[in-house]
Amino acid sequence: MNRHHHAAVRELLTSVEALLLREREMFGEALLVEQTMPRSSPIPAPGPDLFAAAGTPAPVTTEAWGAAPALDALEGMICDCLKCPLGSTRTKFVFGTGNPSATLMLVGEGPGADEDAQGEPFVGRAGQLLNKILEAIHFQRTDVYICNIVKCRPPNNRRPEPEEVAACLPYLRKQIALVRPKVILCLGLTAAQSLLRTTEGLGKLRGQVLAFEGIPLMVTYHPAALLRNPNWKRPAWEDVQAVRKLHDDLVAGRT
Ligand code: SF4
Ligand code: URA
Repeated sequence: MNRHHHAAVRELLTSVEALLLREREMFGEALLVEQTMPRSSPIPAPGPDLFAAAGTPAPVTTEAWGAAPALDALEGMICDCLKCPLGSTRTKFVFGTGNPSATLMLVGEGPGADEDAQGEPFVGRAGQLLNKILEAIHFQRTDVYICNIVKCRPPNNRRPEPEEVAACLPYLRKQIALVRPKVILCLGLTAAQSLLRTTEGLGKLRGQVLAFEGIPLMVTYHPAALLRNPNWKRPAWEDVQAVRKLHDDLVAGRT
């Protein structure tokens, strides 16, 4: 190899190193290798139809907790809930955590073993990854509000049954009504399908701005899925960049 080759190889290695460093900043532990081409189509801005259905949402419930004026009051009123079978197998009720007036709200599926033990959402391995994903878009965990579709752990980490989702969903609607986020990010298919009342797959639901009762909503992979399939980290990173942009535009009143 002549001197020119040496210089070219050194330059290449330097740029590969820079790329890997950037990747590591995004997701911490895993060095990502590009798996998919960046999506070229831009995320559409929410159109007027997004807000057309806004109106006044139906009242969440006629039960006493429906009048809770704040999240902590609500938690106190529902933390002994036994409306579905998950109530009798839980260790701790997992209400939600974070900024009570967050502009971004994250919704997962339901507590796992760690969350059931500690009473806080996303504190296990998936939660550690979620924290890194949030850091990649410059959110602290305490900036956002994090909760789940069901508040009690489904045994053996199974998905919650439709009846369990139906029993628990009014609590989430009330949480959303109290937090009044600008954007909701669904983590995984259970959250997305439950809030959107759809059976569409993630392939259809990702990469666009949807809505829950007039609130802009986006969908990405569940962090536990990213732990199982690191190839999805790249598209997930694109999803959360789009969420960050939508969030910033909405907070700034640009859309
Ligand atoms: Fe109640 Fe929800 Fe727990 Fe079921 S999962 S017992 S509905 S709080
Ligand atoms: N997975 C979820 O969906 N929620 C949690 O709180 C933890 C893991």
